[in-house]
Formats: sequence, C-alpha cells, structure tokens
Amino acid sequence: MKLIAAALVVLVAASQTSATAQSRGSGRPNIIFIMTDDHAAHAIGAYGSRVNQTPHLDRLATEGALFSSVFATNSICTPSRAAILTGQYSHINGVTMFNRFDSSRMTVARLLQQGGYYTGMIGKWHLGSDPMGFDQWEILPGQGVYKNPVFYTATGEKTYTGRYVTDVITDLAVDFLDRRPRDKPFFLMMHHKAPHRPWDPDDVHASHFAGRRIPEPPTFWDSYATRTDALHENEQRVVADLTNRDLKLTPPDGLSPAELTRWFAITPDSVTTVIDGRTVTLTGEALGRWKYQRYMQDYLATVQSVDESVGRVLDYVDKSGLSRNTMVIYTSDQGFFLGDHGLFDKRFMYEESIRMPFLVRWPARIKPGTKSQAMALNIDFAPTFLAAAGLPIPADMQGRSLLPILRGTTPANWRTAMYYRYYHDPGNHNTRAHYGVRTATHKLIYFWTKDQWELFDLVRDPFELHNLYGQPGQAALTESLKTELARLKREVNDLDQLANQQLPNGVDGPVARLRGK
Ligand code: CA
Repeated sequence: MKLIAAALVVLVAASQTSATAQSRGSGRPNIIFIMTDDHAAHAIGAYGSRVNQTPHLDRLATEGALFSSVFATNSICTPSRAAILTGQYSHINGVTMFNRFDSSRMTVARLLQQGGYYTGMIGKWHLGSDPMGFDQWEILPGQGVYKNPVFYTATGEKTYTGRYVTDVITDLAVDFLDRRPRDKPFFLMMHHKAPHRPWDPDDVHASHFAGRRIPEPPTFWDSYATRTDALHENEQRVVADLTNRDLKLTPPDGLSPAELTRWFAITPDSVTTVIDGRTVTLTGEALGRWKYQRYMQDYLATVQSVDESVGRVLDYVDKSGLSRNTMVIYTSDQGFFLGDHGLFDKRFMYEESIRMPFLVRWPARIKPGTKSQAMALNIDFAPTFLAAAGLPIPADMQGRSLLPILRGTTPANWRTAMYYRYYHDPGNHNTRAHYGVRTATHKLIYFWTKDQWELFDLVRDPFELHNLYGQPGQAALTESLKTELARLKREVNDLDQLANQQLPNGVDGPVARLRGK
C-alpha cells in the first residue's frame, strides 16, 4: 500500500511537471519514433543509395542528424524490437529469437507513460503479446499483411478492406497526433510493416521501378572463398532461395489451395518471361540477375510508400506548429542484404545486416545537417528518449543516451566496440548462430555451433570478403579482439553456458493471434 501511494505521488508530481513544462513551451519534447521493418540504410538517398531516391527521408538528414554507425545487437525483427523497448540485450530481455515478449516488463513506453507522456503504438508490434504502457494502440497481428490488413486494438479488431498497410498506418498515426490530449507531451511508436517480405507494393508504386536496371551490388556474385561454413550453408540467396511468391510469378490454372501453397514455395531454377516483347526462358546466371531485379523492384517500391508516409507525418508536424520541440526519428529494426553477398534477409553480423538507418530531426536541439559516426546501438534508443524527457534511466538498461551526441558532442568515454549475438540456428534460412565484436576498424565473428571464426579488416576490406582468421601475421590482432570480446561479454553479462550449446529453434513465422490463444 505504501508503495502504491509512493508511486502515485511520483506520478502526480511527474504529470504536474509535465503540464507546467508544456505550458511554458520550453518543456519536454514530443517523440515520434518511426520504424520500418528490414529497411537497409543503403536504400535511403541520404545514406548514398545507388538504387533509389527518398526525398522525404532525406529531409530528416538535412534538417536534423544522420548517424552512420548504428547497429542492431541481434539482427532480426522480434529481438530488435524487444531490445529497443527495454534498452537491453536479448539475453537480458528474454527475446533471443521469436519468443513471446513479456509486456509487463519495464519498457521505455511504460516509463514515459508513467512520467507524464501520452503514449501510442501503431503498426507492426510482432512481439507475440499485447502491448502495455500505451494509452492507445492499434497493431498488426504477427507479421500482418500488405493488402486489406487487419488491425487489433485492446477491445477489438478491424479490417481495412481495399487499403494498403503503409497508408493505413500513416492515417492512424496522423489521427493519433490529431486527437491526442493537448496537456501532455506525447510518444508515438509508428511501426511500418514495409519493406518486409513478401515485398508487395501498392498499385501506385508497383511499376515505379519497372523497366529500370537496378545496379547489382559489388558483392552480388561473392563466392564465399575464405569464409566459414555459415555463408556456404545459408539459404537466403537471391539466386537460389527466392520463391515463386517472392518473384510474383503467376501460378498455373486449376491448382487446389494446397497445391497453390506448394507452388508458391517453389524456388524456380528456370523462368519463362517476356523481355522486350520476346518470350524467353531464363536459367543460370541470367536467371540470377533477373531475380535480383524482380526482388529489388518490389522491395524498393514498398520503400517509396514509406518515404511518402514520412513526408505526410513531417507535413502534419510542421503545419500543426509542433516541429520545433518534436523529435522525429526514422529507423529500421535492422538492416537488410540488398543482393550484397548474393543475399536477401539479415541475421548475419555482416555490415549490411546489422547497420540500422538512424535519422533524427529535433530543431530545438539538433543542428541541421549534423552527422555522427559514433557507434550507437538499438539499446541506446530507450535511454535517449528517457533522457530527452528528463526522466531517470533505470540501472538495468544497458544502452546509453545519445542526447549529448545529438547536441554535437560525443562523450570522451563513448564506446569503441560493440557486442553482437544471433541465436536462431538453423532458423528459417539455415543461418548459423554466432556472436562477435565490432570495433571501428575490425570485426571478429565466432560461429559457436561450428567452432569457426571470421576476422575482417573493415578499413581495407569494407565488403568483408577476406577472412583473415588464422592467416599469418594476424595472431596479435586476433588475440586483442578475443580479449575485447570477452570483456564485452562480461560487461553485458552474457556469461551463461549457452555459448557452447546448440540452442533449440524458436517458434518462427507469424505469431499466433494475440488474444484468446
Ligand atoms: Ca525486421
């Protein structure tokens, strides 16, 4: 009872502080956290994309800050979302794979709500449990779908017939902003499904990239020479593992529903299509190149809808006079392979997969055009929002506030290395579990179920093609990185015995319906 009374006092005090601060206009910032699913930084203009243009996302960079070294600590959807909410690594927050997140845990949303913020969660949640700590939420079940999406709320569900998911999420977000109580700052998590597989564009953008030749990345035909078994065994290759469904091929007539499901899952090794008015059958290398084009045309078309969505949110913020003291953040739950190393998907500790876009506009505090190479992690987001709100950061959050960096000063003791760990083995794509360390110049990866190592010089070999592990002259460097890896494992308290064990598979695929099961 005493505890409850004390908590109430804190709550009342916090909300009074908030109301006073707001009325002064100097108060705590509003926070709009826009996150997409699987959007690689190298498919954003401001990050130097060679494959598309994103004028609205680029506005965030020119009017705010662009971070170029932000990394996921476990590069897969559900774990990254849990890490963002809790500010903790997977082994601490309990979501190592597709496990259900315990929503009653401490999260940044709950702390902001308790601290006087009006909080909302709209779009893809994908944590297998109902959201908590939100005054309002409307989420996709599991992965959700692109067309005619269903959304769940605390009290029911609604199907948006004839609508496209990115547009619906944007409408709901703008509606949240419009209807919010005016006496509190707000925190909105706006999570898009796009550009996650199966990359279904809307009708407006479906042909946006048709007829264009999208440049292949330099590592598209990577032979994986010098790399360990993991790359050789993976099943997320553009050439070999994209399905009839991914490639949007048309099924033959007359298939039963079960036959249709099987047909869509086929990974074709020949495709008959029409090119320049001629019917051709593609195989081998020509088919691989064609698959890359089909993959990227659809992926990038879904990104165009996201870009326009961000433009709509920015327009709303600007027109409603909120821009000066509203942080608008854009990120993705991890990076993605856009044909890099011949791959789609993520999971691996390679650069394209772990690098997250991170753009922040906040005119009251951030100088336009700010750029930072400071090494930041997804577990830093929660402490950053709490610090911006003037709220204490719990001791068990493992990330650090990025606030000083946003203001232009990187603390002298800022991290110089990060710990990464991926658990799902073999998972959907036969990807091997691994952990490792990344510094500003090097990366050491340990595939513990294989007892195999990879070592890369990120300065001389930015595409990570040459595994130096065990090569002459690398012993001292390898030893120092192993020492740093051990230090980081101690620091993040990942010292259990899991390291040398084969972990069971998690429950993969779309999570079950949230309520009643
Ligand atoms: Ca994802």
